[in-house]
Amino acid sequence: MEKGNISVQTENIFPIIKKFLYSEQEIFLRELVSNAVDATNKLKVLSNKGEFKGELGDLTIDVILSKEDKTITIRDRGIGMSEEEVKKYLNQVAFSSASEFLEKYKDDSGIIGHFGLGFYSAFMVASKVEVVTKSYLDQPAVRWTCTGDPSYELELAEKEERGTDIVLHIGEEGEEYLEKARLEELLRKYCGFLPIPIRFGKKEEVITKGEGEEEKSETVEVDNIINNTSPLWKKNPSDLKDEDYKAFYQELHPFSPAPLFWIHLNIDYPFTLNGVLFFPRLDQTMVEPEKNRIKLYSNQVYVTDDVSNILPPFLMHLHGVIDSPDIPLNVSRSYLQTDQNVRKITGYITRKVADKLRELFNNDRDEYTEKWDDIGIFVKYGMITEEKFYEKALKFALLKSTDKQYTTLEEYKEKVKDLQTDKNGLLNFLYANSTSGQSGFINAARDKGYDVLIMDQVIDNHFMQHLEHKSNNEFRFKRVDSDTADQLIDKDEKIESLLNEKEEESLKELFLEEIGEDNEMRLELKPMSPTEEPVVIVRPEFLRRMQEMQAMQGMGNAFGGNMVNVVVNSNHPIFAQKLLRMRSPEKKKQLVQTLFDLARLNQNMLTGEDLNKFVKRNLELLQ
Ligand code: ADP
Repeated sequence: MEKGNISVQTENIFPIIKKFLYSEQEIFLRELVSNAVDATNKLKVLSNKGEFKGELGDLTIDVILSKEDKTITIRDRGIGMSEEEVKKYLNQVAFSSASEFLEKYKDDSGIIGHFGLGFYSAFMVASKVEVVTKSYLDQPAVRWTCTGDPSYELELAEKEERGTDIVLHIGEEGEEYLEKARLEELLRKYCGFLPIPIRFGKKEEVITKGEGEEEKSETVEVDNIINNTSPLWKKNPSDLKDEDYKAFYQELHPFSPAPLFWIHLNIDYPFTLNGVLFFPRLDQTMVEPEKNRIKLYSNQVYVTDDVSNILPPFLMHLHGVIDSPDIPLNVSRSYLQTDQNVRKITGYITRKVADKLRELFNNDRDEYTEKWDDIGIFVKYGMITEEKFYEKALKFALLKSTDKQYTTLEEYKEKVKDLQTDKNGLLNFLYANSTSGQSGFINAARDKGYDVLIMDQVIDNHFMQHLEHKSNNEFRFKRVDSDTADQLIDKDEKIESLLNEKEEESLKELFLEEIGEDNEMRLELKPMSPTEEPVVIVRPEFLRRMQEMQAMQGMGNAFGGNMVNVVVNSNHPIFAQKLLRMRSPEKKKQLVQTLFDLARLNQNMLTGEDLNKFVKRNLELLQ
């Protein structure tokens, strides 16, 4: 037996490794199984080239758990290692690459240590690692043992079969992995799509035999293969049917409803990337859709579900898989963001998404429109945050009107330009953010022939501001309750007052008495068309936006943006013909109160005690 010391300067890197990668402890399994896959693939290559002439045989990799012995064994039938190779690769290459890795990154807490530690990550969970290996070149098998300090033992071993057994003697820090369920969960997570079959013991399966009367089912033991060796994203899109994508989606997200559509990414130059991105059906009750539902792989090895450095934020809510060996995996986050390859990849994916949406829009607009409520939030978010996407999306982003029509921005401008251009040549886009809450205002606007959009998604305020900003003063958005229907679009039409000055004065006084005037409410007497409501409460657009912005920034209401205008339509016949002719001051007060309350009702402002009073007063009037 040979004993020796592994030649490294750092006398003991294991404590550092353990501490440094503590949160990523579980990657040991991926590292070791990936090595087994590599060793197997190398043998396949040699065999293809004719350099290995023997039988390949069954190349299935085994992961064997022995709770009794407290061991986990990873067994492959790959190229194996000779004694010389063990010395070279395990004592030197693996060790020095591990120390190099640490040297480079131990001060960089933002590091993504997904790859690089390799074989030595075994010591994060094992107190002793035993490697028994036999090279394909028919040399004596050897056993290498190391307990985690730089000393090792190397001896000849009994092993008939070609390949390598890595036996991990699990220490205290790795005990959880001796649970079968936990180990299987890790295998499925990290190795679920590796290209060589991986067996984790046996499992029971129910099979049915015979037919008709003869039919009976029986439980049999079969290999528990944990991976799908040829995942859908590696296949040629032209060989795949819709059902294949849907089935794959179910495999990834067993409890989600079927996706709306998908994009198969497939590129070899200037970088290699495969993947499938699914547009999920959104849960409309959720304020924000879930993130981190995209899994990143590198050559079918699972890396992470945090793709924030690779995808633009608006695509983070998609589901699916991205597989690229060209995304550097052990570098810092700040490096990733400036890496040329990563930027190209981000650009490519964004472009692909835009192309797909455009294709759907062009090919079947009805179907696209039907999905718009789900897709819209992605598109809007993308338009706000990605300039290039904005330009492409203008062709397929839709505006939804209260009359259930969906139009692109260009179409919409055409649709409303005749009636909704104001005296300054500015187009006014009217919108409601609640069809039920603003129905009075919506109807008043539509009675004038105006179109009203529905903007009821959380993102819509930002979206509208962005479109306005981009439009160079061609159009602006105005909420339907920001002005009286007459004034929503300022066409410079003057309406003469039907009251004289004295009448106006007393009308104003009556309302002032009831409403008062403070920071929250401003009274305004205005001659409007007699068919408009007698009293309308409006929230001026500018003030409301200020208020919304403050609320978003958590600033409360410093600006007094809650302010509303109470507009009294002095031309409404109820004033000239009724209110101003009444004798009893009490009756006058009652009528003013009722008109004011009706206006408040229309703005959802009549609540609590005021609402009770209103109901009571009206019941009394009915008696
Ligand atoms: P990497 O795989 O990144 O090269 P590792 O530390 O994981 O680094 O492994 C070091 C070397 O040890 C590998 O390059 C390979 O030559 C050898 N090796 C590791 N595991 C196996 C195995 N199961 N079969 C054959 N060789 C192996």
